[in-house]
Amino acid sequence: MKIIDAHSHIDYITHNFQDSVVGTVVCTTQESEWNVLENLMRGDKNIFGAFGIHPWFADSVENGFEPRLENLLKNNSSYMVGEIGLDKYKPDIERQIYVFQKQFDIAVKLNRIIFIHCVGAWDKILHILKQYKKSDLPIIVFHAFNASDDVLNNLLSNYDNVMFSISKNAVYSENSRIERIDINKILIETDGKSNVILKDVIDKITQIQHNDDIHDIIYNNTRKVLHNG
Ligand SMILES: [Zn+2]
Repeated sequence: MKIIDAHSHIDYITHNFQDSVVGTVVCTTQESEWNVLENLMRGDKNIFGAFGIHPWFADSVENGFEPRLENLLKNNSSYMVGEIGLDKYKPDIERQIYVFQKQFDIAVKLNRIIFIHCVGAWDKILHILKQYKKSDLPIIVFHAFNASDDVLNNLLSNYDNVMFSISKNAVYSENSRIERIDINKILIETDGKSNVILKDVIDKITQIQHNDDIHDIIYNNTRKVLHNG
């Protein structure tokens, strides 16, 4: 069995710790982590890097982050964008929207995969998505996805390129939407938490979906995403 962790962070490179895990998508949360991640990637070809500023750090961004992110991506065609997004429970949502939209624009312009964090701000995310031509959007991975059926249906009926990365919480939650999500759109993730054992998450999804090929399907989904479709 081969597994790729579709969302982790610089302090937990999953494939160094968990059997069967052969690759890790590592997202940054702040600009100060960008070169830390680049150094990690130079020493380990199984790290797939996503660069960006997390909404929790939107209020501490330094001026000029936009051209610095754009140049970093332009100089490295395999770099993705993340973790970016909106979080209603953190300050300052207007600032978060500004920082998110700038980064989203750059990712769309350069056609890079985007890893999105969204908590309680789906109306705003859907509103922003609507401003783009659908065919211009790159692959968008919604991380730790556990939104309502309405949001799920809206995303699935409007966008071909969306994927849902599932964490342990989503799998074990009573309102899990996993049954409703097309298995070809599911990835799995630790979010950098060492107590999330991806093999167990796959076993749980296998039970929920009654499908013994789940691990191969999820692995292939992730490979497809990382090869940009
Ligand atoms: Zn994360």
